[in-house]
Amino acid sequence: MAYKISEDCIMCGACADECPVNAITEGDGVYVIDADSCIDCASCADTCPVGAPSEA
Ligand code: SF4
Ligand code: SF4
Repeated sequence: MAYKISEDCIMCGACADECPVNAITEGDGVYVIDADSCIDCASCADTCPVGAPSEA
C-alpha cells in the first residue's frame, strides 16, 4: 500500500523534501507519489499542512 496525495494539495512542496526515498514529485496541480517507490513511512502525511497524503 502506497500513500496517495488528494486534490487538497496546495503544492507547497514540504512533503517532497521529507520523503526518504524521493517518491514525491511535482505533478499537474497536485504533488504525486510514485507508488512503486513509496515505503509507507507516513512522513509526508505528518508534514502536510492540509492533510492531503493518505494511505491509498
Ligand atoms: Fe515518501 Fe513516506 Fe510519503 Fe511514501 S509515505 S511518499 S515514502 S514520505
Ligand atoms: Fe501538497 Fe501537502 Fe505535499 Fe504540500 S505537503 S505539496 S500540500 S501534499
